[in-house]
Amino acid sequence: MEVITHKCPNCGGALTFDPADQKFHCPYCLSIFTEAEVSEFEAKQKAAQMVDEDNSTATETTEDAASKDTTTETEASAEGTMELYLCPSCGAEIVTDTTTAATFCYYCHNPVVLQGRLSGKFLPDKVLPFAITKEEAVESFLNWSQKKWFVPKDFFNKDQVAKLTGVYFPYWNVNAQADGGLNGTGTSLRVWIVGDIEYTETKQYEVRRAGRFRFSNLVKNALSKNAQQKMVESVQPFQLEQAVNFKDQYLAGFQAEKRDIEYQTLAPDVEQELKGYGENLLKNTVGSFTNFSVQSSHLELTDTKKEYLLLPVWLVTYQADDDRKKTFYYAMNGQTGKVAGILPISYKKLGLVAGGIFAGLLALFMGVAYLL
Ligand SMILES: [Zn+2]
Ligand SMILES: [Zn+2]
Repeated sequence: MEVITHKCPNCGGALTFDPADQKFHCPYCLSIFTEAEVSEFEAKQKAAQMVDEDNSTATETTEDAASKDTTTETEASAEGTMELYLCPSCGAEIVTDTTTAATFCYYCHNPVVLQGRLSGKFLPDKVLPFAITKEEAVESFLNWSQKKWFVPKDFFNKDQVAKLTGVYFPYWNVNAQADGGLNGTGTSLRVWIVGDIEYTETKQYEVRRAGRFRFSNLVKNALSKNAQQKMVESVQPFQLEQAVNFKDQYLAGFQAEKRDIEYQTLAPDVEQELKGYGENLLKNTVGSFTNFSVQSSHLELTDTKKEYLLLPVWLVTYQADDDRKKTFYYAMNGQTGKVAGILPISYKKLGLVAGGIFAGLLALFMGVAYLL
Protein backbone atom coordinates (compact mmCIF):
# COMPACT_ATOMS: atom_id res chain seq x y z
CA MET A 1 0.00 0.00 0.00
CA GLU A 2 1.27 3.41 -0.95
CA VAL A 3 1.08 6.15 1.66
CA ILE A 4 1.50 9.50 -0.02
CA THR A 5 1.36 13.20 0.61
CA HIS A 6 0.62 15.29 -2.44
CA LYS A 7 3.65 17.55 -2.68
CA CYS A 8 3.98 21.14 -3.79
CA PRO A 9 5.67 21.22 -7.25
CA ASN A 10 7.45 24.38 -6.13
CA CYS A 11 8.89 23.56 -2.69
CA GLY A 12 7.89 20.01 -1.83
CA GLY A 13 5.57 21.04 1.01
CA ALA A 14 2.33 19.19 1.67
CA LEU A 15 -0.55 20.44 -0.49
CA THR A 16 -4.09 20.74 0.77
CA PHE A 17 -7.32 21.21 -1.17
CA ASP A 18 -8.99 24.56 -0.55
CA PRO A 19 -12.81 24.52 -0.83
CA ALA A 20 -12.93 28.31 -1.31
CA ASP A 21 -11.32 28.34 -4.75
CA GLN A 22 -11.32 24.58 -5.50
CA LYS A 23 -7.54 24.67 -5.92
CA PHE A 24 -4.52 23.16 -4.18
CA HIS A 25 -2.57 25.33 -1.77
CA CYS A 26 0.91 25.04 -0.35
CA PRO A 27 1.01 26.49 3.19
CA TYR A 28 4.82 26.82 3.03
CA CYS A 29 5.49 28.81 -0.14
CA LEU A 30 1.87 29.92 -0.65
CA SER A 31 1.76 28.59 -4.21
CA ILE A 32 -1.63 27.69 -5.66
CA PHE A 33 -2.19 24.96 -8.26
CA THR A 34 -5.10 23.62 -10.28
CA GLU A 35 -5.96 19.92 -10.28
CA ALA A 36 -4.55 19.65 -13.83
CA GLU A 37 -1.23 21.21 -12.75
CA VAL A 38 -0.86 18.86 -9.78
CA SER A 39 -1.74 15.82 -11.88
CA GLU A 40 0.71 16.81 -14.60
CA PHE A 41 3.50 17.39 -12.07
CA GLU A 42 2.85 14.03 -10.40
CA ALA A 43 2.75 12.18 -13.71
CA LYS A 44 6.17 13.66 -14.59
CA GLN A 45 7.54 12.75 -11.17
CA LYS A 46 6.38 9.18 -11.60
CA ALA A 47 7.95 8.92 -15.06
CA ALA A 48 11.23 10.32 -13.69
CA GLN A 49 11.20 7.79 -10.85
CA MET A 50 10.72 4.91 -13.24
CA VAL A 51 13.73 5.95 -15.32
CA ASP A 52 15.99 6.52 -12.34
CA GLU A 53 14.85 3.88 -9.93
CA ASP A 54 17.36 3.93 -7.11
CA ASN A 55 17.60 7.66 -6.63
CA SER A 56 14.51 9.17 -5.12
CA THR A 57 13.91 9.44 -1.41
CA ALA A 58 10.21 9.35 -2.02
CA THR A 59 10.37 5.78 -3.32
CA GLU A 60 12.46 4.76 -0.32
CA THR A 61 9.85 6.01 2.09
CA THR A 62 7.17 4.30 0.09
CA GLU A 63 8.94 0.95 0.13
CA ASP A 64 9.55 1.38 3.81
CA ALA A 65 5.88 2.02 4.35
CA ALA A 66 4.97 -0.95 2.22
CA SER A 67 7.18 -3.39 4.10
CA LYS A 68 5.88 -2.09 7.40
CA ASP A 69 2.43 -2.54 6.01
CA THR A 70 2.85 -6.26 5.34
CA THR A 71 4.37 -6.94 8.75
CA THR A 72 1.69 -5.08 10.64
CA GLU A 73 -1.18 -6.34 8.55
CA THR A 74 -0.71 -9.86 9.92
CA GLU A 75 -0.78 -8.47 13.45
CA ALA A 76 -3.73 -6.31 12.59
CA SER A 77 -5.81 -9.12 11.16
CA ALA A 78 -5.94 -10.71 14.60
CA GLU A 79 -7.32 -7.53 16.05
CA GLY A 80 -9.19 -6.63 12.90
CA THR A 81 -9.90 -2.94 13.09
CA MET A 82 -6.57 -1.07 13.24
CA GLU A 83 -3.63 -0.85 10.88
CA LEU A 84 -0.29 0.93 11.04
CA TYR A 85 1.50 2.95 8.37
CA LEU A 86 4.54 5.19 8.27
CA CYS A 87 4.18 8.90 7.62
CA PRO A 88 6.07 9.74 4.38
CA SER A 89 7.10 13.11 5.85
CA CYS A 90 8.36 12.37 9.35
CA GLY A 91 8.39 8.57 9.55
CA ALA A 92 6.07 8.41 12.56
CA GLU A 93 3.52 5.63 12.77
CA ILE A 94 0.01 6.42 11.63
CA VAL A 95 -2.70 4.30 13.17
CA THR A 96 -5.78 3.92 10.99
CA ASP A 97 -9.08 2.11 10.83
CA THR A 98 -9.27 -0.45 8.06
CA THR A 99 -11.62 1.91 6.20
CA THR A 100 -9.48 5.07 6.50
CA ALA A 101 -8.41 6.37 3.08
CA ALA A 102 -7.03 9.79 3.97
CA THR A 103 -5.97 11.30 7.27
CA PHE A 104 -3.39 13.47 9.01
CA CYS A 105 -0.14 12.47 10.63
CA TYR A 106 -0.67 12.95 14.34
CA TYR A 107 2.93 14.15 14.80
CA CYS A 108 3.76 16.41 11.87
CA HIS A 109 0.16 17.21 10.85
CA ASN A 110 0.94 16.46 7.23
CA PRO A 111 -2.03 15.29 5.21
CA VAL A 112 -1.53 11.71 3.99
CA VAL A 113 -3.50 9.69 1.48
CA LEU A 114 -3.53 5.90 1.71
CA GLN A 115 -3.64 5.39 -2.01
CA GLY A 116 -4.16 1.62 -2.01
CA ARG A 117 -7.40 1.97 -0.11
CA LEU A 118 -8.98 3.80 -3.02
CA SER A 119 -7.62 1.89 -5.99
CA GLY A 120 -8.59 -1.15 -8.03
CA LYS A 121 -12.18 -2.06 -7.36
CA PHE A 122 -12.25 0.52 -4.57
CA LEU A 123 -11.41 3.38 -6.92
CA PRO A 124 -14.31 5.80 -6.58
CA ASP A 125 -16.07 6.87 -9.77
CA LYS A 126 -16.58 10.38 -8.50
CA VAL A 127 -15.89 12.78 -5.68
CA LEU A 128 -17.88 15.83 -4.69
CA PRO A 129 -15.22 18.31 -3.52
CA PHE A 130 -15.74 20.36 -0.37
CA ALA A 131 -17.16 23.82 -1.15
CA ILE A 132 -17.38 25.05 2.47
CA THR A 133 -14.11 26.05 4.12
CA LYS A 134 -13.18 25.12 7.67
CA GLU A 135 -13.56 28.76 8.76
CA GLU A 136 -17.12 28.86 7.43
CA ALA A 137 -17.91 25.54 9.07
CA VAL A 138 -16.56 26.74 12.44
CA GLU A 139 -18.54 29.97 12.25
CA SER A 140 -21.73 28.14 11.42
CA PHE A 141 -21.11 25.62 14.21
CA LEU A 142 -20.68 28.40 16.78
CA ASN A 143 -23.74 30.33 15.56
CA TRP A 144 -25.83 27.22 15.65
CA SER A 145 -24.59 26.22 19.08
CA GLN A 146 -25.56 29.53 20.63
CA LYS A 147 -29.18 28.79 19.93
CA LYS A 148 -29.06 25.48 21.77
CA TRP A 149 -29.55 26.27 25.44
CA PHE A 150 -29.59 22.86 27.00
CA VAL A 151 -26.37 21.59 25.53
CA PRO A 152 -23.51 21.10 28.02
CA LYS A 153 -20.92 23.86 27.79
CA ASP A 154 -18.03 21.56 26.94
CA PHE A 155 -19.72 20.47 23.71
CA PHE A 156 -18.96 23.87 22.26
CA ASN A 157 -15.57 24.62 23.75
CA LYS A 158 -12.36 25.24 21.80
CA ASP A 159 -11.31 21.58 21.82
CA GLN A 160 -14.55 20.65 20.15
CA VAL A 161 -14.14 23.32 17.48
CA ALA A 162 -10.59 22.08 16.88
CA LYS A 163 -12.02 18.60 16.35
CA LEU A 164 -14.31 19.81 13.54
CA THR A 165 -13.12 17.61 10.71
CA GLY A 166 -13.84 17.44 7.01
CA VAL A 167 -14.56 13.83 6.05
CA TYR A 168 -15.29 12.30 2.66
CA PHE A 169 -17.78 9.48 3.21
CA PRO A 170 -18.37 6.61 0.76
CA TYR A 171 -21.74 6.24 -0.97
CA TRP A 172 -23.46 4.34 -3.69
CA ASN A 173 -25.44 6.45 -6.12
CA VAL A 174 -28.06 4.55 -8.06
CA ASN A 175 -29.71 5.54 -11.33
CA ALA A 176 -32.25 3.15 -12.77
CA GLN A 177 -34.89 2.64 -15.43
CA ALA A 178 -37.93 0.50 -14.85
CA ASP A 179 -41.18 -0.68 -16.36
CA GLY A 180 -44.08 -0.94 -14.00
CA GLY A 181 -47.79 -1.60 -13.88
CA LEU A 182 -50.70 -1.48 -11.50
CA ASN A 183 -54.16 -3.09 -11.43
CA GLY A 184 -56.83 -2.00 -9.03
CA THR A 185 -60.47 -1.30 -8.34
CA GLY A 186 -61.87 2.18 -8.03
CA THR A 187 -65.22 2.79 -6.38
CA SER A 188 -67.35 5.94 -6.70
CA LEU A 189 -70.26 6.58 -4.39
CA ARG A 190 -73.00 9.13 -5.07
CA VAL A 191 -75.73 9.78 -2.49
CA TRP A 192 -78.78 11.98 -3.03
CA ILE A 193 -82.19 12.45 -1.47
CA VAL A 194 -85.54 12.93 -3.20
CA GLY A 195 -88.40 13.45 -0.78
CA ASP A 196 -88.16 10.74 1.91
CA ILE A 197 -85.96 8.45 -0.12
CA GLU A 198 -82.16 8.34 -0.02
CA TYR A 199 -80.57 7.01 -3.18
CA THR A 200 -77.08 5.56 -3.32
CA GLU A 201 -75.29 4.92 -6.59
CA THR A 202 -72.15 2.78 -6.54
CA LYS A 203 -69.95 2.62 -9.63
CA GLN A 204 -67.01 0.26 -9.85
CA TYR A 205 -64.13 0.68 -12.25
CA GLU A 206 -61.37 -1.64 -13.10
CA VAL A 207 -58.24 0.47 -13.37
CA ARG A 208 -55.03 -0.41 -15.20
CA ARG A 209 -51.96 1.75 -15.24
CA ALA A 210 -48.57 1.14 -16.81
CA GLY A 211 -45.51 3.28 -17.13
CA ARG A 212 -41.81 3.56 -17.74
CA PHE A 213 -39.74 5.21 -15.03
CA ARG A 214 -36.40 6.81 -14.71
CA PHE A 215 -35.03 7.11 -11.17
CA SER A 216 -31.98 9.21 -10.56
CA ASN A 217 -29.62 9.87 -7.69
CA LEU A 218 -30.80 7.45 -5.05
CA VAL A 219 -27.92 7.84 -2.58
CA LYS A 220 -27.08 4.96 -0.22
CA ASN A 221 -24.58 4.76 2.62
CA ALA A 222 -21.62 2.45 1.89
CA LEU A 223 -19.89 2.47 5.29
CA SER A 224 -21.08 0.06 7.97
CA LYS A 225 -19.96 2.15 10.92
CA ASN A 226 -22.22 4.93 9.60
CA ALA A 227 -25.27 2.70 9.53
CA GLN A 228 -26.47 3.43 13.06
CA GLN A 229 -25.38 7.04 12.98
CA LYS A 230 -27.75 8.82 10.67
CA MET A 231 -25.47 11.83 10.61
CA VAL A 232 -24.71 11.80 6.95
CA GLU A 233 -28.21 10.97 5.81
CA SER A 234 -29.53 13.92 7.77
CA VAL A 235 -27.47 16.45 5.82
CA GLN A 236 -28.63 15.26 2.40
CA PRO A 237 -29.34 16.20 -0.32
CA PHE A 238 -26.08 16.80 -2.16
CA GLN A 239 -26.00 18.38 -5.60
CA LEU A 240 -24.50 15.39 -7.33
CA GLU A 241 -24.26 17.02 -10.73
CA GLN A 242 -21.30 18.94 -9.32
CA ALA A 243 -19.34 15.77 -8.57
CA VAL A 244 -16.11 15.39 -10.56
CA ASN A 245 -14.14 12.37 -11.73
CA PHE A 246 -12.21 11.00 -8.79
CA LYS A 247 -8.65 12.22 -8.15
CA ASP A 248 -7.17 11.57 -4.74
CA GLN A 249 -5.67 15.09 -4.64
CA TYR A 250 -9.10 16.26 -3.50
CA LEU A 251 -8.62 14.28 -0.29
CA ALA A 252 -5.48 16.20 0.67
CA GLY A 253 -6.17 18.03 3.90
CA PHE A 254 -9.29 16.01 4.72
CA GLN A 255 -10.12 12.64 6.12
CA ALA A 256 -11.62 10.01 3.89
CA GLU A 257 -13.19 6.62 4.39
CA LYS A 258 -13.42 3.77 1.92
CA ARG A 259 -16.54 1.70 1.51
CA ASP A 260 -17.10 -1.60 3.29
CA ILE A 261 -20.63 -2.22 2.02
CA GLU A 262 -20.90 -3.74 -1.45
CA TYR A 263 -23.73 -2.85 -3.78
CA GLN A 264 -25.03 -6.46 -3.90
CA THR A 265 -25.87 -6.20 -0.21
CA LEU A 266 -28.01 -3.15 -0.84
CA ALA A 267 -29.59 -4.27 -4.11
CA PRO A 268 -32.71 -5.99 -2.65
CA ASP A 269 -33.52 -2.93 -0.50
CA VAL A 270 -32.93 -0.57 -3.41
CA GLU A 271 -35.26 -2.62 -5.60
CA GLN A 272 -37.92 -2.63 -2.90
CA GLU A 273 -37.60 1.12 -2.41
CA LEU A 274 -37.87 1.85 -6.14
CA LYS A 275 -40.87 -0.45 -6.37
CA GLY A 276 -42.54 1.61 -3.66
CA TYR A 277 -41.82 4.86 -5.51
CA GLY A 278 -43.09 3.37 -8.77
CA GLU A 279 -46.34 2.15 -7.23
CA ASN A 280 -46.95 5.56 -5.66
CA LEU A 281 -46.33 7.36 -8.92
CA LEU A 282 -48.79 5.08 -10.71
CA LYS A 283 -51.37 5.47 -7.94
CA ASN A 284 -51.15 9.25 -8.28
CA THR A 285 -52.32 8.99 -11.89
CA VAL A 286 -55.42 6.98 -11.02
CA GLY A 287 -57.75 9.96 -10.52
CA SER A 288 -60.36 10.55 -7.84
CA PHE A 289 -62.47 7.70 -6.55
CA THR A 290 -64.20 7.44 -3.20
CA ASN A 291 -62.09 4.40 -2.66
CA PHE A 292 -59.25 2.79 -4.59
CA SER A 293 -57.66 -0.53 -3.77
CA VAL A 294 -54.58 -2.02 -5.43
CA GLN A 295 -55.03 -5.60 -6.62
CA SER A 296 -51.56 -6.12 -8.00
CA SER A 297 -48.51 -4.15 -8.99
CA HIS A 298 -45.14 -4.92 -10.50
CA LEU A 299 -41.93 -3.11 -11.35
CA GLU A 300 -38.99 -4.49 -13.30
CA LEU A 301 -35.70 -2.66 -13.28
CA THR A 302 -34.52 -2.63 -16.88
CA ASP A 303 -31.28 -0.75 -16.43
CA THR A 304 -29.43 -0.09 -13.17
CA LYS A 305 -26.33 2.06 -13.04
CA LYS A 306 -24.42 2.42 -9.82
CA GLU A 307 -21.61 4.78 -9.00
CA TYR A 308 -19.22 4.70 -6.06
CA LEU A 309 -18.69 8.23 -4.84
CA LEU A 310 -17.26 10.22 -1.93
CA LEU A 311 -19.34 13.00 -0.38
CA PRO A 312 -18.08 15.84 1.85
CA VAL A 313 -19.23 16.33 5.46
CA TRP A 314 -17.91 18.54 8.26
CA LEU A 315 -18.24 16.65 11.51
CA VAL A 316 -17.82 16.96 15.28
CA THR A 317 -18.58 14.02 17.51
CA TYR A 318 -18.90 14.10 21.24
CA GLN A 319 -19.02 11.26 23.71
CA ALA A 320 -21.14 11.93 26.78
CA ASP A 321 -19.19 11.68 29.99
CA ASP A 322 -21.70 9.53 31.80
CA ASP A 323 -22.26 5.76 32.16
CA ARG A 324 -24.02 5.38 28.85
CA LYS A 325 -21.15 6.90 26.81
CA LYS A 326 -23.58 7.80 24.07
CA THR A 327 -22.07 9.50 21.01
CA PHE A 328 -23.58 12.77 19.89
CA TYR A 329 -22.69 14.68 16.77
CA TYR A 330 -22.95 17.81 14.73
CA ALA A 331 -22.77 17.38 10.97
CA MET A 332 -22.74 19.82 8.09
CA ASN A 333 -23.10 19.19 4.38
CA GLY A 334 -19.65 20.19 3.03
CA GLN A 335 -21.19 21.38 -0.22
CA THR A 336 -24.44 23.15 0.71
CA GLY A 337 -23.91 23.95 4.41
CA LYS A 338 -27.07 22.17 5.58
CA VAL A 339 -26.63 21.19 9.24
CA ALA A 340 -28.01 18.49 11.47
CA GLY A 341 -27.10 17.04 14.80
CA ILE A 342 -28.06 14.99 17.76
CA LEU A 343 -26.89 16.93 20.75
CA PRO A 344 -26.40 16.01 24.36
CA ILE A 345 -28.73 17.66 26.87
CA SER A 346 -27.41 19.08 30.07
CA TYR A 347 -29.85 18.13 32.81
CA LYS A 348 -28.17 20.64 35.06
CA LYS A 349 -29.01 23.49 32.66
CA LEU A 350 -32.46 22.06 32.08
CA GLY A 351 -32.94 21.81 35.87
CA LEU A 352 -31.97 25.45 36.32
CA VAL A 353 -34.59 26.61 33.84
CA ALA A 354 -37.26 24.32 35.29
CA GLY A 355 -36.36 25.65 38.74
CA GLY A 356 -36.65 29.14 37.33
CA ILE A 357 -40.10 28.46 35.96
CA PHE A 358 -41.19 26.93 39.26
CA ALA A 359 -39.87 29.91 41.19
CA GLY A 360 -41.64 32.19 38.72
CA LEU A 361 -44.92 30.37 39.20
CA LEU A 362 -44.48 30.43 42.94
CA ALA A 363 -43.86 34.19 42.87
CA LEU A 364 -46.88 34.69 40.68
CA PHE A 365 -48.99 32.54 42.95
CA MET A 366 -47.77 34.37 46.00
CA GLY A 367 -48.46 37.60 44.21
CA VAL A 368 -52.00 36.50 43.57
CA ALA A 369 -52.36 35.33 47.14
CA TYR A 370 -51.12 38.66 48.34
CA LEU A 371 -53.58 40.52 46.14
CA LEU A 372 -56.45 38.52 47.55
ZN1 LIG B 1 5.24 25.09 -1.78
ZN1 LIG C 1 4.36 12.84 10.01
